Amino acid sequence: MVKKKRDKLSKYKNDLARFSRLSYERGLVAARGGNLSIRIPETERVLITPSGISLRDITPEIIIEVDIEGNLLKGKKDLKPSKETPFHTSIYRLRGDVMAIAHLHPPFATALSLKDKPLPILTAPGMVNLAKVPLVQFAFMGTKELCDYVTETVKESMEAKAYLLKGHGIIAVGPDLESAYYIADLVEDCAKVAFLHSVNG
Ligand code: 13P
Ligand code: ZN
Repeated sequence: MVKKKRDKLSKYKNDLARFSRLSYERGLVAARGGNLSIRIPETERVLITPSGISLRDITPEIIIEVDIEGNLLKGKKDLKPSKETPFHTSIYRLRGDVMAIAHLHPPFATALSLKDKPLPILTAPGMVNLAKVPLVQFAFMGTKELCDYVTETVKESMEAKAYLLKGHGIIAVGPDLESAYYIADLVEDCAKVAFLHSVNG
């Protein structure tokens, strides 16, 4: 039983490292941006990437464990949980269906967020798999204000699979990290199509 739990935990940490690297390599985030998390099923605990480390360099060993209020439970000395931990844990508290979150900075979606509207969804895959991607108003990274705006928008759109953060990036959610990652990928794909369509007149 204990071994099974430990195996699950290392699977989640491996997933966080794998999808962090994939997000970076796919261009869904640049430099030291972005953060990913997983809620440990049937617990009030969350695994999250550390602050200030490029998603390119995330390894299972440096993943941090926090409680559902965002308090630090386990982590390497010298590492802090992501500065966006408050909005991750706020989403987990609000939405029981969400088991994983990918916060990324994909350039096309971020550019379209500046239009002050939800993401334009012009494709069938977007219509079917995303439906709508609401806009969260602008606030700086890691602030209480940003967490409050995210919380407000999630409360208004409890069914959404992704949220657009004005002038910042996106939050994709899912029943597991792979699903959240593919939602993020699809959001950026829809944003590219919307951009190309606007260029074509
Ligand atoms: P962290 O490195 O603290 O996770 O912050 C990155 C980020 O994307 C802030 O919005
Ligand atoms: Zn960010």
